[in-house]
Amino acid sequence: MKIATEEAFTTPELVKGWNALLNAGAPAEPGLPLLAGVYQNLDIERSSEVATNLADLGAGRIAHMDEAGVDMQVIFITAPGVQVFDADTGCGLAENANDILAEAVNNHPTRFAGLAAIAPQAPQRAAQELERSVGLGLKGAVVNSHTKGQYLDAPEFWPILEAAESLDVPIYIHPRESAPAMLTPFAERHLEKAMWGFQTETGLHALRMIVSGVFDKFPKLQIGLGHLGEGIPFWLDRQDRFYLRYRQAPDTYPHFKAEHVPSKYFLENFFVTTSGHNWDPALRFVEEVIGEDRLLFAVDYPYENCVQQTEQAGAVTVKNPDKFYHLNAKKFFKLD
Ligand code: MN
Repeated sequence: MKIATEEAFTTPELVKGWNALLNAGAPAEPGLPLLAGVYQNLDIERSSEVATNLADLGAGRIAHMDEAGVDMQVIFITAPGVQVFDADTGCGLAENANDILAEAVNNHPTRFAGLAAIAPQAPQRAAQELERSVGLGLKGAVVNSHTKGQYLDAPEFWPILEAAESLDVPIYIHPRESAPAMLTPFAERHLEKAMWGFQTETGLHALRMIVSGVFDKFPKLQIGLGHLGEGIPFWLDRQDRFYLRYRQAPDTYPHFKAEHVPSKYFLENFFVTTSGHNWDPALRFVEEVIGEDRLLFAVDYPYENCVQQTEQAGAVTVKNPDKFYHLNAKKFFKLD
């Protein structure tokens, strides 16, 4: 059995909202116009292949899954989700997307599982929406990295983390383009998206949560990261060493509040999926670092080709294929 665990969708209402924001000049979202190419692809009226596949929560999606031998997808709204809107608009679009996704899951319970969209710009409502969505059968939440340049380590967002921990569901931190404060040097060479910026943005998000002590406050919280852990596994050894060194000067490093070294949290509070990185040497390395119990198969459909990514993953000898392809997904997302 194969479960793909970072798979994207969109709704007509979201596409309409993104386009309206772009037409208004995307105030306070300097990264959004740089995704214009992506948004044109998302424009279902243009009927591009990616747009069609994103909008399809039925037969078309299942046909692609069947072609690749993918039994089930864990699906969530594509970046930047609802985080670019004002709080009210974001909350409304999240509720709408969650209703649509829950209905699709209900119609195809053996093929689809889903994570809820939430709007962190309204933390209490986001926490309530997570709870409502879990009641509808969704299995956690997705946060498309920064929310107007803010990250989940900020205490204002902690109601969301508290809700996830108490509901015992994961939060998947998915990439989006670089935050406004670091956008320019990336954008000058078109590196703000999948070439490099997605990974630095999302890895930064995870590390901010780790060093600031979020997981001392919420020790049971589980965070999903795609793209083989957004680079962090490659860095853990050096990060641990320098964290210990820097922490000896708390006056200089007052934001290093975590009790333990980064690797402790990364190995206990995170799971990692392979979305778009089903590449033999990288996958084997990450398995060596994080172990076979926290590594999950993913495609990143429809941005990656389902057949190509599945075949590429199949060429890698993972230690425990059952855990990699389905048992770990069932554990972290509590799939039936
Ligand atoms: Mn993705």
